[in-house]
Amino acid sequence: SEVLLEVTGLTSELGDATHPVRVVDAVDLRIHRGETFVLLGESGCGKSMTALSLMRLLPPSGRVRAGSVRLAGTDLLRLTETEMRRVRGGRMAMIFQEPQTSLNPVMSVGDQIAEAVRRHEGRARDRIAARVIELMNAVGIPDPARRIAEYPHQLSGGMKQRVMIAMALAGDPELLIADEPTTALDVTIQAQVLRLLKELQVKTGLAVLLITHDLGVVAETADRLAVMYAGQIVETATTDAFFAAPAHPYSQRLMESLPSAEKRQGRLAVIPGRVPPLTTAFHGCRFVDRCARALTPCPEQVPVWRDLTADQGVRCHLWSAGAAESIARGAAQD
Ligand code: SF4
Ligand code: MG
Repeated sequence: SEVLLEVTGLTSELGDATHPVRVVDAVDLRIHRGETFVLLGESGCGKSMTALSLMRLLPPSGRVRAGSVRLAGTDLLRLTETEMRRVRGGRMAMIFQEPQTSLNPVMSVGDQIAEAVRRHEGRARDRIAARVIELMNAVGIPDPARRIAEYPHQLSGGMKQRVMIAMALAGDPELLIADEPTTALDVTIQAQVLRLLKELQVKTGLAVLLITHDLGVVAETADRLAVMYAGQIVETATTDAFFAAPAHPYSQRLMESLPSAEKRQGRLAVIPGRVPPLTTAFHGCRFVDRCARALTPCPEQVPVWRDLTADQGVRCHLWSAGAAESIARGAAQD
């Protein structure tokens, strides 16, 4: 299907120019229209920084150093700030982990959604009111005519996230970026919000870039995914290929650490060791300190990217030319 967002060589830094920290390092991503694409990894891997780079919303100490971000062919990194503001919340919108920090506590939810509608459409007043109700219905907020006058503190966490989604939908986006949208919510509400995103996607043809540390979320939602580690993409795959045979040792550890469904409630997958700080001067593979399968070249030689099949690629020395060929042969036989 058609490529909606094509990210090539995206590299971003934080901090002053003399001691920059490379938080996103040569990231390539390709997201198709209407799909759910998951960016998976532990916290501190650069997932949020990748999303903020795409939206051009890095903190003031940050900047994109290199790469391109093409939304249906237009390189967002070359737009003026005014043009970018039109894209943001228009063709492309983002929701965050903590809805309360993005909502204005002293403004009714109806007014906040109305403001989002006005920003993108500038409609007549009666039309705005109708659109607000329409959006509240679309995200499953019960009794919108009453809820419209309520303030954020009167809403549950799940309802607040629905308000954020309604605001994000105000400009009819083609791509919704959702950064850990359910992490702060309890498990039942998490499932409801994920189901809502899926429904909206089916109804509107929206593509979703979902950021999560939770492999369970991947299984429930993703069409394809990318695994991020220490600022780099280390594996991309269709969800089916990934669950059948994760290729990168980091992906394999994440998979092994996935507890059973009932134990998983609210917990992070934990694997021994931790993500190296992005201030590290990396030489070889960034996963080497935690990898049980490390080979002689791993500490010194940077592993190069390898496409194993049309559905899966990996950055790891284990996938020598010979290993990659045997996988491709296996796939051809299915
Ligand atoms: Fe492990 Fe080496 Fe592969 Fe890195 S390149 S994940 S250290 S086997
Ligand atoms: Mg994050």
